[in-house]
Amino acid sequence: MAEDPAGKSVLARLVEIVGAGHVLTADEDKAPYLTEWRGYYRGVTPAVVRPASAAEISAILKLANETGTPIVPQSGNTGLVGGQIPDESGREIVLSLERLDKVRSVDADGATIVAEAGVVLERLQEAAERAGMLFPLSLGAQGSCRIGGNISTNAGGTQVLAYGNTRSLVLGLEVVLPTGEIWNGLRGLIKDNSGYDLKQLFIGAEGTLGIVTAAVLKLFPRPSGQTVAFAAVESPRAALGLLKHARKLAGTGLTAFELMPRIAIEMLVKHMPGARDPLAAPHPWYVLIEVSSGRGESDAHELTLRSLAAALAEGTVADAAIATSVAQAQDFWRMRHALSEIQKHEGASIKHDVSVPIERTPDLIRLGSEAVAKAIPGVRPVPFGHLGDGNLHFNFSQPVGADGKAFLARAPEVHGIVHRIVTEMGGSIAAEHGIGRYKRELLKGVKSEIELEMMHKLKRAFDPNNILNPGRVV
Ligand SMILES: Cc1cc2nc3c(=O)[nH]c(=O)nc-3n(C[C@H](O)[C@H](O)[C@H](O)COP(=O)(O)OP(=O)(O)OC[C@H]3O[C@@H](n4cnc5c(N)ncnc54)[C@H](O)[C@@H]3O)c2cc1C
Repeated sequence: MAEDPAGKSVLARLVEIVGAGHVLTADEDKAPYLTEWRGYYRGVTPAVVRPASAAEISAILKLANETGTPIVPQSGNTGLVGGQIPDESGREIVLSLERLDKVRSVDADGATIVAEAGVVLERLQEAAERAGMLFPLSLGAQGSCRIGGNISTNAGGTQVLAYGNTRSLVLGLEVVLPTGEIWNGLRGLIKDNSGYDLKQLFIGAEGTLGIVTAAVLKLFPRPSGQTVAFAAVESPRAALGLLKHARKLAGTGLTAFELMPRIAIEMLVKHMPGARDPLAAPHPWYVLIEVSSGRGESDAHELTLRSLAAALAEGTVADAAIATSVAQAQDFWRMRHALSEIQKHEGASIKHDVSVPIERTPDLIRLGSEAVAKAIPGVRPVPFGHLGDGNLHFNFSQPVGADGKAFLARAPEVHGIVHRIVTEMGGSIAAEHGIGRYKRELLKGVKSEIELEMMHKLKRAFDPNNILNPGRVV
């Protein structure tokens, strides 16, 4: 472990900054911070440091610059591209944001909330709800992920259709720069064209340009009515038919539109306690559709019914089940949110987080499934996700009875197949989970020289000693 210029060890200096109880060095204490939920990344670290303020983070980053110590910020540790896990060198120190966990203020009239980076997303949603408002960011990991991580990954989730990505929910940020300076940009202004919009640089930067310590976020009125339904469709193309009607009739009231194949429903029914087939007969594809209204339950219900009826008349919807209670609507959502997790029970899976122009999603599903099945006979495609945003989690479960390790070893080949199709369609190989360590090499193949050069210039300008999340993104 490095020493500072005065010969004091970095660990001793970290203890001075945050206190002995917040520098974790025992293996059993560090373990939860060193692997992510799928177990794909396992890292090694001399210590996990748990500061409680921007001032402490500033002191840690100054020390890191003095001593050339790499720092890896971690919020909820639900990231899916390995950015929050230290590498195997044993040099990288994990900086956990979990003690910065206060909601500083909620302003229902001004429709803003100020929260520290370590606030768990679900706690943030609840704080907004207590003030009679809505914080719309919503994703399967919301019980664990933290707002600092959501901002740093520009998380998407299930409500992007109506409210946009995390980027469109952020009004101001407080950030500690890699060199240790604290930038207080906690302004809650809707309009501010006074020069470069610096906060945008840190949103989606995956902890490579600074550590987000707090944010001013937008709140919205809570819809007074909401209807959730499962619609059965013949194909992804038919699902787009329903999307067209729902958009036309519900407009911005269409708050979610999530596609799932039959195999996903079967996996849920088999492995998720309490999950039930949403419709009496099986269908090849399903859409979970949510319509919200400011004019009450009956309006949301009416808009949903009219959307479904228009699609039924056209033959694009075969059947539908509308949730008749809040509990049933929650059950529908629980099934959708459990999908990433539930695939684990079916063995290994090779995953993609991609987006294409919405009209091309059916082609992507068909071409990708065919090409991967040709390479690996028996592979089980499980493409699901945010069809309304053209964003699919295009996952492949191993053939039944196959060797999981051997299947996973073919991940680079499968990624190559899927990403080639996505790129040919003008899509993105990293729609919402980011680049991290997982896709860093792929970035070189999909960004132009000038884009890569601008990214490298930014990184060098903010982090001249390359101490913050080195080897991630760029
Ligand atoms: C079941 C499941 C479902 C998911 N569904 C979605 C989904 O629908 N949409 C979606 O977008 N994502 C989804 N994700 C991915 C993940 O939840 C998001 O990327 C989330 O935003 C990460 O937040 P986190 O707090 O866990 O961040 P972490 O995993 O701790 O960190 C993620 C990245 O941000 C950096 N970072 C963390 N905190 C900070 C900070 N304060 N300042 C600077 N850098 C920081 C880390 O170094 C890392 O590079 C899902 C994950 C799971 C497990």
